[in-house]
Amino acid sequence: FDQLDGHIWFNGEFVPWKDAKIHVLTHGLHYASSVFEGERAYGGRIFKLTEHTERLIKSGEILGFDIPYSVAEIDDACIKLLEMQGFQDAYVRPIAWRGSEMMGVSAQANRINVAIAIWQWPSYFKPEEKLKGIRLDMAEYRRPDPRTAPSKSKAAGLYMICTLSKHAAEKKGYADALMLDWRGQVAEATGANVFFVKDGVIHTPTPDCFLDGITRRTVIDLAKRRGYEVVERAIMPEELEGFEQCFLTGTAAEVTPVSEIGPYSFTVGEIATNLVNDYAAEVQPKRLAAE
Ligand code: PMP
Repeated sequence: FDQLDGHIWFNGEFVPWKDAKIHVLTHGLHYASSVFEGERAYGGRIFKLTEHTERLIKSGEILGFDIPYSVAEIDDACIKLLEMQGFQDAYVRPIAWRGSEMMGVSAQANRINVAIAIWQWPSYFKPEEKLKGIRLDMAEYRRPDPRTAPSKSKAAGLYMICTLSKHAAEKKGYADALMLDWRGQVAEATGANVFFVKDGVIHTPTPDCFLDGITRRTVIDLAKRRGYEVVERAIMPEELEGFEQCFLTGTAAEVTPVSEIGPYSFTVGEIATNLVNDYAAEVQPKRLAAE
């Protein structure tokens, strides 16, 4: 990835992709003082850009640092960079981290750096698997108690257990893993929220110790627009057997049907399929009727 072409926005400047480097004594690398975003552009427009930028700044605040750019400045940088990269459809990755001025757990004076990279990432899961529904393993690690980790921040440190869980699942031939939370309730996948369907009703875990994803909220709105009932509640793993459909939501994953979680299987049913299509339509820039 460090050999792609184009530019990276780095602390206010557009630098050639291959030159966007940091020092090995970066605090963000040693102590995970880093927060990031994942966004997608469709048809030349970044979907819900400002919501993502606001979450980036909030994630930094939760880790105790102020990102030294405004929402408008970061939005503007993302838009300009997308234009420079010349993509219509692309993935956008803003990241902010404590720099390398001081070493040690405490690094109050370290500069907060910000960078944005944009590349083409057509599908998070293999396209042929996505249509049939992907297979999930049960993760060994659990989402931490909000008193144990700042679970509302999209902080790099929280992804350690995600990478471990996803790698373990992939080694067994699964696409991803379903994580429980510290209480043993169903939480989410390693980079996406989870939904279930039973008797025509949609059920999804209450996001009280993991990200309330922007895609999650968009899909809940789309489901309600179709007249589906959506229930946000605590879901126990024992209930998985009784659900008929399952799907994941996330910026990268979009809406991805799930066909299996461990021993349980699900059909790619009407509700999941409708939401795959509704989301695909929703993310496209709207053309005025007169155009
Ligand atoms: N949970 C985790 C752990 C994630 O990494 C993501 C992707 N950002 C999500 C949920 C979904 O969030 P969003 O819909 O805002 O992309």
